Amino acid sequence: MRILIVEDEKKTASFLAKGLKENGYAVELAENGIDGLNLLLQNDYDLAILDVMLPLLDGWSVLSVLRSKNIQTRVLLLTARDSVEDRVKGLEAGADDYLVKPFAFSELLARIRTLLRRVAVTESQNIVCAGLEIDALKHRVTRDGIRIDLTPKEFQLLLLMARRPGEVFSRTVIAEQVWDMNFDSDTNVVDVAIRRLRTKVDDPFDNKLIHTIRGVGYAFEKRD
Ligand code: CA
Repeated sequence: MRILIVEDEKKTASFLAKGLKENGYAVELAENGIDGLNLLLQNDYDLAILDVMLPLLDGWSVLSVLRSKNIQTRVLLLTARDSVEDRVKGLEAGADDYLVKPFAFSELLARIRTLLRRVAVTESQNIVCAGLEIDALKHRVTRDGIRIDLTPKEFQLLLLMARRPGEVFSRTVIAEQVWDMNFDSDTNVVDVAIRRLRTKVDDPFDNKLIHTIRGVGYAFEKRD
């Protein structure tokens, strides 16, 4: 597993690199946003740990350029403060997870393992519904034969609901299943992800599959 760390604080960067190497990961370092972005564009990493506050180009911009080029490398953002706006901004920009500084290395390691494991878990079951086809093994989604590009989180969210059509998923359950987190009242993150998913999966098509169950949550279902 190959991980890129984009972090300008030398102490943090070397501490992370050392810890990750000890845990068997191949680690590369970039000290600013431009170098980080170039490495991400040129190489195929399993994960990028991206600090938000970076010289030359900040983490948000690195992430948005990456996603605009349709590069779906998993990204764990490191943010300096825990705010709902930052969380939502990160997810809207296409981050897969985020961690607030300062954090314990064990916490980082747990997040990384979860992120990497999610992709390693393969289930061969394919789901077909109203022109939508989800290939769970290849992580490929098409609707009416048109390829739909989803971030890993969006894919997980879609798969979670599509595997159990008609079942209502509360925001809390979605947050726990997809982000491994307890969001309590902060379910904005789920709403944002659902909105992004709808834009890709439902908006261009007549038959809507993702439904809002007012006051409860969301459900995936074909309704005629
Ligand atoms: Ca920094």
